Amino acid sequence: MYRIGEEEIKAVSELILNGKMWRYTENSNALNFEKELSTWMGSEYTLALTSGTGSLICALVALGIGPGDEVIVPAYTYIATAMAPLALGAIPIIAEVDESLTLDPNDLENKITDRTKAVIPVHINGLPCDLDGIMKVANKHNLYVVEDACQAFGGEYKGKKMGTYGDIGAFSFNYYKLISCGEGGAIITNNRDLFDKCSIYHDCGIGFFSKDRNIEMPYFAGINMRISEVLAAILRVQLTRADGILKDLRDRKAAFSEIIKQNEYVKLSPVNDVDGDCGVKIGIVFDDADKLQQVMSESSAQELELGLECPFYSNRHVFSNWEAVMEKRGSLNEKLNPYTGVEIEYKKDMCKISLDYLERTLYIANDPDLPIDNMIERAKQLNGIIKTVYK
Ligand SMILES: *Cc1c(COP(=O)(O)O)cnc(C)c1O
Repeated sequence: MYRIGEEEIKAVSELILNGKMWRYTENSNALNFEKELSTWMGSEYTLALTSGTGSLICALVALGIGPGDEVIVPAYTYIATAMAPLALGAIPIIAEVDESLTLDPNDLENKITDRTKAVIPVHINGLPCDLDGIMKVANKHNLYVVEDACQAFGGEYKGKKMGTYGDIGAFSFNYYKLISCGEGGAIITNNRDLFDKCSIYHDCGIGFFSKDRNIEMPYFAGINMRISEVLAAILRVQLTRADGILKDLRDRKAAFSEIIKQNEYVKLSPVNDVDGDCGVKIGIVFDDADKLQQVMSESSAQELELGLECPFYSNRHVFSNWEAVMEKRGSLNEKLNPYTGVEIEYKKDMCKISLDYLERTLYIANDPDLPIDNMIERAKQLNGIIKTVYK
């Protein structure tokens, strides 16, 4: 979460005072948020939900994913991307990321079997995936595409918002995301049939919406992921902040990057669309993982607060740390565990290319509210440390 304040407080107090804390009231915040988000994204339909994980699950349900199906996910993503297929008895198949730390289209193609139904490309850290490459492979092999844009709210690829390329785009509004209401999510799609299926599933398969929504297909069983009106009221205000946050993040990343470009020992992480990147983090690639570690130690020794992080050590984001997946505990109930009787093997040292890139990438946290001069100062300090380590 970057920005929140009086406007959100006002929106929530107005809601509390009028007492209509239910999304299915006339002119509800949820309904308005969905309309506003559709317009903002350039997408036909939006359904607000309770979480990003729920949004991914809802998307996979709507696409008919189920037991025995394989869903390809990248080796580097928040663990929820792999949990979503498992929740439906489908199996996550882990594919390499390339140097941009997003899904490698070539390895996506390598991992396709006759059981593969879908792929979830993840725009991790606000970075656009190679959507041209991924869509090409997906179209060639008839795979559904669910874009996990949970960390990439408002970012673009070639002038179109991330989340609008695949069959469905999924977002999260939890505390760590670009806009936030503490916990929340949404799916967007241009497909009315998929939207209706998401609507049915997210509202216990029967729906309080039945009459005004004109859903013609037979209802099927679902669960409850209805957005709270309180959260929707906050999200409507948050949405108005998104463009400003994105601009400030991008300006700071650009200024920081200019300084790093002058460094002969390292390079900036490649980005599939520099203009569309949300700018959440600045990535630097080292030729040597030890040197990267020395830079981190030196930065702490000098007590600099540069927001440095090596993604290799993130326990929730690197596949080798997804214990339930690695150990094939796909469900507590053995009969619901998709791995039961299935020959599939995960190894902590598979996806070696991804592990190598992760170990040699240094991330710097960006901050839209830090004066840009301070950001430039940080870049210079980091440059200095890198030079000392390499000399
Ligand atoms: C945050 C996140 C999710 C899950 O979102 P929740 O709202 O926490 O359920 C899924 N995928 C990625 C890449 C995320 O960053």
